[in-house]
Amino acid sequence: MAPKEWYNILPDLPEPVPPMRKPDGSVVKPEELEVLFAKEVVRQEFSQDRWIPIPEEVRNTYLEIGRPTPLIRAKRLEEYLKTPAKIYFKYEGVTPTGSHKVNTALAQAYYHSKEGTERLTTETGAGQWGSALSLATALFDIALRVYMVRISYEQKPYRRIVMETYGAEVVPSPSPYTQVGKKFLEQDPNHPGSLGIAIAEAIEDAVTHENTKYSLGSVLNHVILHQTVIGLEAKKQMEALGEYPDVVIGCVGGGSNYAGLAYPFVYDRLKGGKEVRFVAAEPKSVPSMSKGEYRYDFGDSAGLTPMLKMHTLGHDFVPPKIHAGGLRYHGVAPTLSILINHGIVEPVTYSQEEIFEAGRIFAKTEGIIPAPESDHAVKAAIEEALKAKEEGEERVILFNLSGHGLLDLKGYDDFLHGRLGSHL
Ligand SMILES: *Cc1c(COP(=O)(O)O)cnc(C)c1O
Repeated sequence: MAPKEWYNILPDLPEPVPPMRKPDGSVVKPEELEVLFAKEVVRQEFSQDRWIPIPEEVRNTYLEIGRPTPLIRAKRLEEYLKTPAKIYFKYEGVTPTGSHKVNTALAQAYYHSKEGTERLTTETGAGQWGSALSLATALFDIALRVYMVRISYEQKPYRRIVMETYGAEVVPSPSPYTQVGKKFLEQDPNHPGSLGIAIAEAIEDAVTHENTKYSLGSVLNHVILHQTVIGLEAKKQMEALGEYPDVVIGCVGGGSNYAGLAYPFVYDRLKGGKEVRFVAAEPKSVPSMSKGEYRYDFGDSAGLTPMLKMHTLGHDFVPPKIHAGGLRYHGVAPTLSILINHGIVEPVTYSQEEIFEAGRIFAKTEGIIPAPESDHAVKAAIEEALKAKEEGEERVILFNLSGHGLLDLKGYDDFLHGRLGSHL
């Protein structure tokens, strides 16, 4: 069941991904990205090879952390909804850090260790990406400094403790370790920080230190192709049950967990003419897929990364503080943006109230408390199952449960006690 290759969608897209550009319009050369990223991931970023071998060392760590993750049929949820549809979910919450993010963290850490990188930097908001990279760098013996948005550092200590337990150095951002950080601290010694500032600090740190590079957890093509291990496993697991999905569902922040599950099935539709639908869920208050413009924009809110052509709300968009922290991103992966433009992926949006209600139903029927991000996928799966009931049609639904919510219980608490705020 464990795949030996990742799937790269670049050669199969209905149109090529527009090149990355600098603010002056010039095209970014791959070599220029090597200042920040591992050479091999830069090669993968632009590769036109459909299948990319998973190095044995990475594959072994996938097995060690519990891959293949389970494919589970949500029978009690089906019964609760009285739907003729079959609902399957791929459960990424069983990894040690509780989400899919470790799939790319392990690959990136491996390539860095092979290329002699001694230290990595990254940013983290609520801490999911930081936790995954902390584990991966521990396994591949690389030092890591995580710039964690100060307000999260202070208010959400648990993921910081996870990262520190794995041996990462976690500093609240803005920090005194970078010029950018110092500038913000001078303005306000208690600055709450932002993801944009944390990114700027992590990048500055990487480019000003010997043997130090930077690692990103979503949006870019190399990240997405590492995540296809989810969909490739799911396809085999469904095959073993004699099933094939009619609809593939997931939640989208930058797009990596959804693309990871969906792209191997998108391949079947694009190349094999399979009739399969794709539904991607996002928060009503951060509608980058459904309301974002398709244009060039920075990948980060600080305006430091190259510009990508994607659906974007603008890199200066300030997302409301919804509990699904991983979905508070202004853009969408360029490959996913193209699939949306071609009507292959259908975006849907839900409010916080709706997604937590879906999460509560899922917890009561299936026993797993999903991450608030994943609740968006649960909600979309429930909607599809109810549509199947209305239409009196059997239907096979597959969705990605990208993570568990055991470190995000504050959101459930606010939902259960009517404190979510109605506008979100
Ligand atoms: C980070 C995260 C997401 C959103 O990121 P994508 O790149 O869109 O997958 C979704 N679910 C969980 C559990 C996350 O940690």
